[in-house]
Amino acid sequence: MQQLPDRDPDQLMRAILARAPVGIAVIDYEGRYVSVNPAYSEIYGYTLADMVGENFLMVFPEEAHAAVLARHQDFLDNGTPLGGEWDVFRRDGAKLKVWSNSVSFPARQGKPDRLVYVLDITDQKKAQEQERIANTVYQTTSEAIMVTDADNRIIAVNPAFTRLTGWTLSEVVGRSAEMFRSERHPEAFYAEIWAALKSYGYWIGELWDQRKDGEHYLRETAVTIVKDSFGNVKNHVIVFSDVTERKAAEDLIRWQANYDSVTGLPNRHMFGKQLAEGASRATETGATMALLMIDLDRFKEINDTLGHSVGDRLLAKVSDRLKEGKRAGDAIARIGGDEFALILTDLADASEAEGIARDLLGRFETPVTVDFEQVYITASIGISLYPGDTQSLEELFRNADQALYAAKGFGRNCLHFFTPALQRAANVRMRLANDLRQAIADGQFVVHYQPIIDLQCGQVVKAEALVRWQHPTRGLVSPATFIPLAEDTGLILPLGDWVARQAIAEVAHCRRTYAPNLQIAINQSPTQFRSPAFSGLGWMAELARHGLTGQAICLEITEGVLLNAEPTVMNTLIAFRDAGIEIAIDDFGTGYSSLAYLRKFDIDTLKIDRSFVSDLEGAGLDICEAIIVMAHRLGLKVVAEGVETEQQRDVLKSIGCDYAQGYLFAPGLPSEAFEAMLGAQGVPAGVRQAASAQ
Ligand code: C2E
Ligand code: MG
Ligand code: MG
Repeated sequence: MQQLPDRDPDQLMRAILARAPVGIAVIDYEGRYVSVNPAYSEIYGYTLADMVGENFLMVFPEEAHAAVLARHQDFLDNGTPLGGEWDVFRRDGAKLKVWSNSVSFPARQGKPDRLVYVLDITDQKKAQEQERIANTVYQTTSEAIMVTDADNRIIAVNPAFTRLTGWTLSEVVGRSAEMFRSERHPEAFYAEIWAALKSYGYWIGELWDQRKDGEHYLRETAVTIVKDSFGNVKNHVIVFSDVTERKAAEDLIRWQANYDSVTGLPNRHMFGKQLAEGASRATETGATMALLMIDLDRFKEINDTLGHSVGDRLLAKVSDRLKEGKRAGDAIARIGGDEFALILTDLADASEAEGIARDLLGRFETPVTVDFEQVYITASIGISLYPGDTQSLEELFRNADQALYAAKGFGRNCLHFFTPALQRAANVRMRLANDLRQAIADGQFVVHYQPIIDLQCGQVVKAEALVRWQHPTRGLVSPATFIPLAEDTGLILPLGDWVARQAIAEVAHCRRTYAPNLQIAINQSPTQFRSPAFSGLGWMAELARHGLTGQAICLEITEGVLLNAEPTVMNTLIAFRDAGIEIAIDDFGTGYSSLAYLRKFDIDTLKIDRSFVSDLEGAGLDICEAIIVMAHRLGLKVVAEGVETEQQRDVLKSIGCDYAQGYLFAPGLPSEAFEAMLGAQGVPAGVRQAASAQ
């Protein structure tokens, strides 16, 4: 090598060695460090003094010593190259990957030294490993990956991309990523994505694209911008997956969670949200919102008679009518079996809500056609106003429900507004319903007997069993109050059964002691009669146990039971008939008053409702006369209810009425008082003899 004159070559070499970025060491034949340069000692974390004289194996893990020595020997003896990658340790225990090579040069007596140069490639190796992993992910992930350049031209795609879109790299490389766009998004949508990328460097969202075969699909996409060291956009990395199916499933689940499948209307859950929206709107505008609870009258009967699928179709038709009746912007929902709810917003006052509710009721005047069958259906509506009645939505719901209950009580097919009085009544009802459960267990019920007089002879020949509730704190509670509660809670079954058994025991006792032909009438509520758990037929055994025939009792039912009678009701009626038990229609004249039913079910007695008797001086007279004439023609007997004056009794007798019941004779009496009354009218001779013979 050419040399400048004023340079000392040794000094120059030392300077080079001291500054060389490569670790260089000289190791003698025995493997001891002779010298190391600063780069070398820095790689291993030792000082020069630490290393000189030590065996070079100090930097190798112990388990590798044997192998390293063997290669070392092979190099020294046979010149086999030592170049390659090695796993070594730094002084502080950190693992390093180094690349090293060795050359030997002659030293002492044929024992050559070795010059070793070393590069620390730990970081580079790590980076390579990362890259390898990244590439594996890129190749194998199920997510499609597309990389574009600064102009959004495609430069790379992975296998998942091809699987998902149908396009291979060679088909798309160099083309604009816009080639996949679906026309489902307006230009503005893409502009927004670009704006987000510009400000945040990434965008995540869902968008519709087109596959190679033209099919549109929804992809969940993440776009990230890669910048070069100068901050210029270099690449876009677009990672996406097909979420069309997942989205469809989600939509379906969301739909089912919020909508009713029978009518397609929002369900109770969704309705809750709509109600909250309506309320905040009302608060904002200061207008009134009304909640209308709409319940179909006697839907259960229709459902049971015509079948559930017809019932479902009827509900769908009903919902159509309701939809027609609402104004644009009003929300309607099906919130239960046959219960619908309507939210009216932006009302000026209550009368506007009333107008709409009346219009809805009017829409049911024409029958609904289901499967070529004309079904007459009516509805009842309860209304509560927000914020007039309450500012709580939960309460609004309850209010409307109470108003609905009141509307039903008013004879159905009508509407009722919520009032504070309804609220109080509802509270009492709720507490009573709770007490009712306990009452049966605690024996708080008692049966009273109201005499029924034969108008020809003036004697007590029948009686009606009327249940009384002696409430521990409220005193006597009227059956008009607790019977509906017992019906709602199902307690009517055990209660009715208990009353019947009491009445049977009473009639048995009275027949033995006072009146051998006495008959006691027992009221039957429609719910009781329709229930599959109804145990009325067990009463025959009870009668037999007392040595009685069916004639000893009579069952009072209302006309509603006969209307749309299900097979179970029919069969029960027939079984009662066969056992000789009479059937009376209670409160006749207030319901459907259908003659056809009276004939069909072979009814024995009609009880004219009190309202006609109390109006005998007015229109009631004609009605009573008509009922009596008609009943007699059909072979039925007639009882007039609620006879309070002698005049009423005389008029009824003169128009041919058979029996009378009312305060004129006696109210419902405790059994002792009732028996005393029977005793006072004289015991028939046969009974007296039988009694004294005992
Ligand atoms: P209902 O069957 O029509 O009974 C006649 C109701 O009229 C009784 O009321 C009776 O006390 C009342 N009443 C009788 N004579 C007169 C009168 O001259 N003037 C007036 N103003 N009222 C009179 P009560 O005892 O309050 O019973 C009400 C209703 O409760 C009954 O009406 C009946 O439908 C039902 N009920 C009573 N006991 C039972 C029962 O054991 N089971 C069932 N399911 N219902 C019952
Ligand atoms: Mg009755
Ligand atoms: Mg009655």
